[in-house]
Amino acid sequence: MKNIPYAAQSIEDDDVAAVAQALKAPYLTQGPLVGRFEQAVAAYCDAKYAVALNSGTSALHAACFAAGINNGAEAITSPITFVATANAVLYCGGRPVFADVQAGTINIDPAQIAARIKKKTRAILPVHFAGQPCEMEKISRLAKKHRLTVIEDACHALGAEYNGKKVGSCRYSDMTVVSFHAVKHITTGEGGMVLTNRLDLYKKMLMFRTHGITRETSAEGAWYYEMRFLGYNYRITDFQCALGNSQLKKLDRFVARRREIAARYHAAFGKMAGVTTLDEKPGCRSAWHIYPIMVKADRRKVFDKLRRSGIGVNVHYLPVYLQPYYQEMGYKKGQCPQAERYYEKAITLPLYPKMTDRDIEAVIKAVGDAL
Ligand SMILES: *Cc1c(COP(=O)(O)O)cnc(C)c1O
Repeated sequence: MKNIPYAAQSIEDDDVAAVAQALKAPYLTQGPLVGRFEQAVAAYCDAKYAVALNSGTSALHAACFAAGINNGAEAITSPITFVATANAVLYCGGRPVFADVQAGTINIDPAQIAARIKKKTRAILPVHFAGQPCEMEKISRLAKKHRLTVIEDACHALGAEYNGKKVGSCRYSDMTVVSFHAVKHITTGEGGMVLTNRLDLYKKMLMFRTHGITRETSAEGAWYYEMRFLGYNYRITDFQCALGNSQLKKLDRFVARRREIAARYHAAFGKMAGVTTLDEKPGCRSAWHIYPIMVKADRRKVFDKLRRSGIGVNVHYLPVYLQPYYQEMGYKKGQCPQAERYYEKAITLPLYPKMTDRDIEAVIKAVGDAL
């Protein structure tokens, strides 16, 4: 029996060669490849500025810091996300507030966001679940009305499009965060980036990445640098960015293959009464980071059967506020009923560019047998 994982990176010979070359260069950490990678991703997404960091999580932290989230501030996000989205708000001393998702897309519902905006609200963090962009026009209108900062968590959505523009262009937001973790669309091992069109935010995040230090002033002499606020060492290395630059050239090919696999799943599961899939909305071109289905039958039984037949299924995600740490903080069960209903029925199927057509058929057959 062949095991099919739920995700896998695609590292090819030219990726290996690019990293090997970078390892022999004089710079190991902060070299020219970091800036080159930032410029290349910014150009791909059509954003003005980009800051590369050592993970998507530190990129979220940098964005929340730049947005001015601090003690007492609230930020509204989706409960159906990786914990890092909400944790980044906590890192800054803020309080994540969860707005429920829409049934068809499992993306945050703008009406639910509107209902949770208060005086203390500072930011909105929509998460483009599974790779499909949220309703950014509506979210951006809400943000303008209430003077809120919008940070897109696009860790599932590099290569996706909304209204004909690449996610990351920040047309409807202040900042967009992507991840280059191994399971994501392209990888640097660990890594992340924030895209923005705002120079003020860009400058803040550059300093945040390296201890809050700037070398802008040389009042004392050429050796001189100043620490202006408490930052971190969130720097990514040059050889990781060598991998990133090499991978970026393949992003469109990877996304095309992901979309092809999703289309085959859609066609097959559309005919199975016991399975519901995510809708792709008009104006949205999903990058299909993951392929979640909802099953009518007992989820646990279907999941265990699939695992036993070698299909590396997973579940994305337990609503963040149901995590023990969040429960201890006092977040109540029942606050986002749609998210909880989704979680009870969700199974994520394998989806990655180097899946073969036979792998796809094997997954479809296994799902049919497991229902
Ligand atoms: C992967 C991911 C992150 C965090 O990225 P890392 O690079 O693993 O730190 C944040 N949010 C979402 C939705 C993710 O999928």
